[in-house]
Amino acid sequence: MDSKRVCIVGGGVVGLCSAYYALKRGYSVTMVQREPEGGDNCSMGNAGMIVPSHFVPLAAPGMISKGLRWMMNPESPFFVRPSLDPSLVRWGWLFYRHATERHVAASRELLRDLNLESRRLFLELESEESFGLVDRGLLMLCKTEKGLEEEAEMAHAAHEIGVEAEVLDAKATAELDPGVTMDVVGSVHFPKDCHLDPSRFMATMLKRVLALGAEIHSGVTIDRVATRGGRVVSVSGGSETFEADEFVIAGGSWTAPLLRLVGIKLPLQAGKGYSLTLPSPPELPRLCSIFTEAKVAITPMGNKLRFGGTMEVGGLDLSVNPSRVHGIVKSVASYFPKFSEDDFRSVEPWAGLRPVSPDGVPYLGRLKQLPNLTVASGHAMMGLSLGPVTGRVVADLLAGDAPFRPIEAMAPGRF
Ligand SMILES: Cc1cc2nc3c(=O)[nH]c(=O)nc-3n(C[C@H](O)[C@H](O)[C@H](O)COP(=O)(O)OP(=O)(O)OC[C@H]3O[C@@H](n4cnc5c(N)ncnc54)[C@H](O)[C@@H]3O)c2cc1C
Repeated sequence: MDSKRVCIVGGGVVGLCSAYYALKRGYSVTMVQREPEGGDNCSMGNAGMIVPSHFVPLAAPGMISKGLRWMMNPESPFFVRPSLDPSLVRWGWLFYRHATERHVAASRELLRDLNLESRRLFLELESEESFGLVDRGLLMLCKTEKGLEEEAEMAHAAHEIGVEAEVLDAKATAELDPGVTMDVVGSVHFPKDCHLDPSRFMATMLKRVLALGAEIHSGVTIDRVATRGGRVVSVSGGSETFEADEFVIAGGSWTAPLLRLVGIKLPLQAGKGYSLTLPSPPELPRLCSIFTEAKVAITPMGNKLRFGGTMEVGGLDLSVNPSRVHGIVKSVASYFPKFSEDDFRSVEPWAGLRPVSPDGVPYLGRLKQLPNLTVASGHAMMGLSLGPVTGRVVADLLAGDAPFRPIEAMAPGRF
């Protein structure tokens, strides 16, 4: 068996799944993360959805005009912090150039394949050791006829690429989820979507990688990378240095500063989002759902119910903006009338930074300049969903095997 030493920087879902599949190949794995073991990162408090329904990249037609309108409203679900920071300006320009029909058409099969393969891997992992995966699909809930029309178009686009989706009226929506009272005109059901509690999934994967022999160094911030002869030889943080044959950078939103340590400018911005978890909600839906117009994700996690939303682009900053949190809270009673703002009074908002690429396609591949360095990041709203497939592809790259489908479109050096 190949006894390669692999060092993974990042203990989020991407780093953890990469560690798992590398260990399964028999590699010796060291994982380094800034937070304490089991500590918080973007992968812990997210909405926990596995989303074959998300085959349209964030950079899509209409996003620019919608985004500009949202920028005017402090409670809106989308905001770009105005700044002349050259990395944000470059990211914005690349986003603008990719917000086209052509780009959507070129990316949707890739995103479909990644999400469906990841779903398959989630089911496989769940069958080996349960982490509470719920395979009941997702509802795109619509308050307005216009919203339902747009979602019905999305369902049509889904059928074109073989993703199952069904348009439902209000009655059929209520029948599908009797757990919650809904005030909607209808919905689209994506039956292949799933949900889970991400912190439970992360805890299970952590246990599994430790059992497979991973060495985990927590509370270490990597701030130096040593290279020799066009290869990375070590990464260091504080007084600790980690040598390996292969390195994987899975630093989430911090992947860009990490790559700057080797002189590479990766266009990547943090997209801040919030979640609020009700420990004993007035009603408990059976399915996860998205309030289509309000852009809020709702996920049952055991007896708890999580609401997640907003995308504030720009800055590695986890501070909580109460207006945007209020935007999430305010939307709830309009779709779920048995809920009220009072239900959220003592709930602490959680904040996380999604790593967002400008074309809505993840970064996954080896760096041409440093061939023993693999980048795995930029999964934006789908990092949890794409965790297992990303880990699997990372392991393929480490082994020199062909991944399950071509991945050139995700090359980290594509811009
Ligand atoms: C509100 C909200 C809801 C979401 N809902 C969903 C959802 O339903 N489904 C879905 O698929 N996705 C969802 N996401 C997105 C998902 O959470 C992210 O895409 C995913 O968690 C990113 O994982 P990651 O491993 O790349 O990064 P992270 O989880 O952020 O992990 C990054 C890791 O890198 C480490 N690191 C960074 N820099 C250094 C350094 N210098 N030295 C050492 N370690 C370092 C960090 O310590 C951390 O361990 C949501 C996000 C938010 C904010």
